Amino acid sequence: MIKLTGLVKRYPGRAVGANAVDGIDLEVGEGKLTTLLGPSGCGKTTTLRLIAGLERADAGTVEIGGQVVSDPARGIFIGPHRRPIGIVFQSYAIWPHMTVVENVMFPLKVSRPRPRKGEARKRALEALDAVGLADFAERPAPALSGGQQQRVALARALVREPKVLLLDEPLSNLDKGLRGRMRDEIRAVQQRLGITTVFVTHDQDEALAVSDDVVVMNGGHVVERGIPHAIYTYPRDMFTARFLGVSNSLDGVVESVGPEGATVSFGKRSMLCSQCEAIEAGQTVSVFMRPESFKLSRRQHSDEAWPGTIEFSIYHGDCWDYHVRLGDDLLKVRVYREKVGLEHGDLVFLEPDPDSAIVMPAATGMAA
Ligand code: ATP
Repeated sequence: MIKLTGLVKRYPGRAVGANAVDGIDLEVGEGKLTTLLGPSGCGKTTTLRLIAGLERADAGTVEIGGQVVSDPARGIFIGPHRRPIGIVFQSYAIWPHMTVVENVMFPLKVSRPRPRKGEARKRALEALDAVGLADFAERPAPALSGGQQQRVALARALVREPKVLLLDEPLSNLDKGLRGRMRDEIRAVQQRLGITTVFVTHDQDEALAVSDDVVVMNGGHVVERGIPHAIYTYPRDMFTARFLGVSNSLDGVVESVGPEGATVSFGKRSMLCSQCEAIEAGQTVSVFMRPESFKLSRRQHSDEAWPGTIEFSIYHGDCWDYHVRLGDDLLKVRVYREKVGLEHGDLVFLEPDPDSAIVMPAATGMAA
């Protein structure tokens, strides 16, 4: 439904080589919710604005539904109002002097061909119904809560029945509880309508929760893409691993490789890593471990367990993060239990889970 080929954008005044979007190739499947995920400044919003036609690319093409809507090399540029898109921004910009239904009708007033007023109203009410706000149509827009106003913005983006819905950090102005609810609602509406959607966020939890596909970006590039479970569990790139919360990394040497996996040694400690291909004995590697992929005990249940001491702990409500010192390394270990009563200086034993370790050759940062 959307195809980006060799897309490049450099803002005026930026140094040569400092492209906001630096040669992106990307296809977004019909009916899918695809998320552009990455840190601030990685080019997510610029990519979305190039799809929308709110920015002009310096090079590369944008196709929507098989139509080339931008190709500077051939002088093609179709403006945002003539692209089959609906867009919701972070600042949802509801017009305060209008009622809810007038807000939603507005894009139809400026579209070509312009539907009759009765038809426009009918379509606006249908869009409000899709976001669960049919009963609020006649209210003044400012009388709605933040979450409801964001749903009005969503209805306004849907009213022209676009082929593509573009969402630019639509939840960042909402408080935490509302944010979760709105996230679920957006996903529900998107699936019900089966509308192709590109969602921009820097929040990894949000991306994993709502997406069919996650595209991880950094420095104007696509680092990798995949379904949420694959990106989370088996990231192929060190950047993705770190960005998706893999906080522990240990540098080691592969001692041996067998049918069960690779045994990696970190000085006095070693562990079996079952997820490793194309790894050879003697190779220097980095092993990435999530905080939840250790078993933490006060007693030593196995000879393989690593002894360490508690440095400090952080309470999250549903879990504890213990920071455990092992020589020069400080590992974060998450425990989903009642407080086990551990304090600074307590001796503990860690058993790493061989299945959840991610092994990458140290030099490249790409998964083995
Ligand atoms: P954020 O999550 O902070 O919005 P982002 O990943 O969406 O970040 P972009 O907003 O696309 O990133 O910005 C990419 C790069 O382009 C950044 O270095 C940014 O400073 C720069 N940039 C964005 N908009 C402009 C502009 N209008 N003029 C000049 N530089 C810009």
